[in-house]
Amino acid sequence: MTQYATVDPTTGEVVREFDTMTDEQARDALERAHAAFATWRRAPGKDRTAVIQRVADLHRTHADELANLMTLEMGKPVAQARAEVELAASIYEYYATQGPDLMADEELDIAGAGRAVVRTAPIGALLGVMPWNFPYYQVARFVAPNLLLGNTILLKHAGSCPQQALRLEELIGEAGTPHGVYQNIFASNEQVASLIASDELQGVSLTGSERAGRIIGGLAGQHLKKCVLELGGSDPFIVLPGADLETAVPAAVAGRFGNAGQACTSSKRIIVEQTLWTDFVDQFVAQASQWVGGDPTDESTRLGPMASVAARDDLAAQVEDAVSKGATVHVGAMVPDGSGAYYPATVISDVVPGMRAYHEELFGPVAVLYRVPSVEAAIELANDTPFGLGGAVFTRDEGAAQHVVDRLDVGMVGVNTTIKSAPDMPFGGVKASGIGRELGRFGLDEFANKKLVRLV
Ligand code: NAP
Repeated sequence: MTQYATVDPTTGEVVREFDTMTDEQARDALERAHAAFATWRRAPGKDRTAVIQRVADLHRTHADELANLMTLEMGKPVAQARAEVELAASIYEYYATQGPDLMADEELDIAGAGRAVVRTAPIGALLGVMPWNFPYYQVARFVAPNLLLGNTILLKHAGSCPQQALRLEELIGEAGTPHGVYQNIFASNEQVASLIASDELQGVSLTGSERAGRIIGGLAGQHLKKCVLELGGSDPFIVLPGADLETAVPAAVAGRFGNAGQACTSSKRIIVEQTLWTDFVDQFVAQASQWVGGDPTDESTRLGPMASVAARDDLAAQVEDAVSKGATVHVGAMVPDGSGAYYPATVISDVVPGMRAYHEELFGPVAVLYRVPSVEAAIELANDTPFGLGGAVFTRDEGAAQHVVDRLDVGMVGVNTTIKSAPDMPFGGVKASGIGRELGRFGLDEFANKKLVRLV
């Protein structure tokens, strides 16, 4: 099978394959992006925002078609897929409507004579390397602010979603981006490396695994290119005395099993203070059992297949490792018969250091429940991970909640809510979860030249 192929996750069958581009095509694409920058950066701001608004509109016009393609290529239940298309549209719309404010000069309060302003300017051609788990939303986070800035874009999408990648390129072109401003590239890893090394490329943004982050971040460092890395997570969901279980349990279940658990900010480790343990576990397992795997094209399906049989097998091996070393299974943990990448909603506990499930990201529908004796133990466990993306704490005790907020080593934390991405809120992590932020005004600044203009 080629690197770029549509494989139906419900059957494992190859539906369509695409050729990887030649080295010459990759070089030509970069030259086009570099040449297009010269004019796109000078296009009036209102022209760029009009294009971005049309990208939003086209997502909405073609929402069903885009959602169906996502369901075909990565198995997301179609209702969740449609919600993702709308989220992507809202991100383009945010940058279209907020553009003039976000791009305005910032007047500095300086000592001495004259004035100083910071102007927000573009930097040039950029490369985006994107994953399959939220195929339109991840692209929108990178593309919308950079179209607004006046940067140009080469987009290397995941090998498993080529049809979505091509359709996005068509729609962004149809919205009115001039030739070379946005190009999909079916690039090999080697071509990605040589693009990053090229003088014409000014930056790279990766959303993906820690492994890919180390490679792409390393290349960016070596060639002095600005980079943003949005990587994995193993988010803690902390339940403390005073928590309202009627809110906390459904939030934890949805936070763990939505998108078949394949989200960077899934509630992967659910940490429960001991006095709440029995009630929480009973309710959590009962609700998790209602997430029954089904046909992702069916409107009522909440849990589809995972994105690939290989990913499902990796997850099953992580769970088997834990169970063989003494973990308790409350529900699930059995690979179903039949074809496709299905894995059941699974709940395990008694996971301890030395098990893969303790140390690694579980990128699928598996919840790990931990029982802790105190708030301090909850914080210590929550931070005992290489990752630092998101987190949540559930309690009506405001003091305890703020104590946890201050102590968690994460980029985002919710009090009585999980982290749900929104166009106007920054998204990103610390530690092995990455470098930089996307969305809101913070996302705009990553690939901007914040140019000081001194006026005397
Ligand atoms: P992945 O294997 O790292 O793939 C992500 C992208 O990187 C794909 O386009 C992939 O291309 C490309 N890639 C991988 N290795 C590369 C290399 N050596 N050179 C050039 N490109 C390379 O990630 P995944 O397993 O598909 O995605 C899941 C991961 O993404 C999880 O860890 C998840 O937590 C993380 N994620 C993070 C965020 C966030 O915002 N922090 C959001 C979503 C997902 P191919 O597909 O062609 O190999």
